[in-house]
Amino acid sequence: MNFTDLQLIEPIAKAIHEQGYVNPTPIQEKSIPEILKGKDFLGCAQTGTGKTAAFAIPILQNLTKNKTPNKNIKALILTPTRELAIQIEENIKAYGKYLPLKHLVIFGGVKQGNQEAALKKGVDILVATPGRLLDFISQGIISLKNLEIFVLDEADRMLDMGFVHDVKRIIKLLPQKRQTLFFSATMPAEIQKLADSILNNPVKVEV
Ligand code: AMP
Repeated sequence: MNFTDLQLIEPIAKAIHEQGYVNPTPIQEKSIPEILKGKDFLGCAQTGTGKTAAFAIPILQNLTKNKTPNKNIKALILTPTRELAIQIEENIKAYGKYLPLKHLVIFGGVKQGNQEAALKKGVDILVATPGRLLDFISQGIISLKNLEIFVLDEADRMLDMGFVHDVKRIIKLLPQKRQTLFFSATMPAEIQKLADSILNNPVKVEV
């Protein structure tokens, strides 16, 4: 399969071409058409499989097609570490370079001033680590009430790093009606249970 078979809008197709990508990876081949249709998705995939583009590309396209012009956060990508968060935001920036969508990454361990100022300008796609996100929510700086798409990335690492309680608190704050994408390298029982509790009839892919 070639990227041209995936019916991506021109600004995204052009950005992907400029990245030098020709063929989607196996997870992208399966995820992109299903996520574009609005389906929930469960991907059992390690880093290195192209899983970031597997969710970032269809999110960019879905938000472009449904664009409601307001300052609300429309997609949230929750990931366990600062390094992963930065990488994901860099990918979104690259694939979304010809789109007017605004994206931001937030994480702990740094002063919140710059992140707060950027949030106030309005953000369509937010990449976050759990602790900093909860801090901003508790201060009333972030609201997730208009969220359309939620991605839980590296769910098994969230568990290993002791973030599951924070993740569950965040999930309780999300609108019931949303699209949920769940990625984990492994599927221990607790992660499977979490996936079952937040996904609605998902398409499942293991790579
Ligand atoms: P990830 O698994 O998301 O960490 O991606 C691993 C690496 O593969 C990243 O450096 C991506 O830029 C690259 N990549 C993702 N999708 C493709 C693709 N379809 N073709 C070539 N490289 C890709």
